[in-house]
Amino acid sequence: MNLILLGPPGAGKGTQAKRLEQRHGIAQISTGDMLRAEVKAGTEIGQRAKAVMESGQLVSDELIIAMLESRIQKPDAARGFILDGFPRTVPQADALDLMLDRAGTRIDAVIELKVDDIALVDRIAGRFTCASCGAGYHDDFQKPRAEGVCDVCGGHEFTRRSDDRRETVAARLEAYHTQTAPILPHYSKTGRLVSLDGMADVDSVSREIEAVLARVPNRAVTIN
Ligand code: AMP
Repeated sequence: MNLILLGPPGAGKGTQAKRLEQRHGIAQISTGDMLRAEVKAGTEIGQRAKAVMESGQLVSDELIIAMLESRIQKPDAARGFILDGFPRTVPQADALDLMLDRAGTRIDAVIELKVDDIALVDRIAGRFTCASCGAGYHDDFQKPRAEGVCDVCGGHEFTRRSDDRRETVAARLEAYHTQTAPILPHYSKTGRLVSLDGMADVDSVSREIEAVLARVPNRAVTIN
């Protein structure tokens, strides 16, 4: 089963993608995570992407499409994948169609998480993650049970994304509305787009997503 999670930054795509990965045994493919790994490793791709990411703009289609194409050919994506943060532009959506056509597969469902912009700024600006295990937290909505200690692994170090500052969030939202939202009609035309309320709590959103997936025809799903 191949899925796309769409929605502005902070809508909860990453959280839901991780849950889907665990529940259905399909790979979460986050182009943002892939780019952050390239930046951390100091690769050529990372060096090209770093300043663009920090400004809240989108990295070039050419770079992202090439990166995504090699990622979906990896063995762990053979059983299916959840795209989180891709496609983000019309050329990316077109390139994805071509790639999947060539591979003889397709997207089974596109799920849009809708959240209003004001709520997003608060959600994003308070995010932080455990540096050891990547568990996600929030200053107001999801603090660790014991201050300074990760609930999952007991780690004591936390990190914040450099592009989660309030000033950068505005640019990221603008990029979403001008460059990414125009791909929604591409998927609604084929009847594969379902829009859900991303303002609901995390468990309710997960339940809604599972209800959508249960209606996907001929899906090859493995439930762990
Ligand atoms: P994300 O973690 O998905 O919010 O992505 C963080 C940043 O990585 C974005 O603000 C962009 O600069 C870049 N990025 C991630 N995915 C894409 C994409 N599909 N196209 C262009 N830029 C991307």
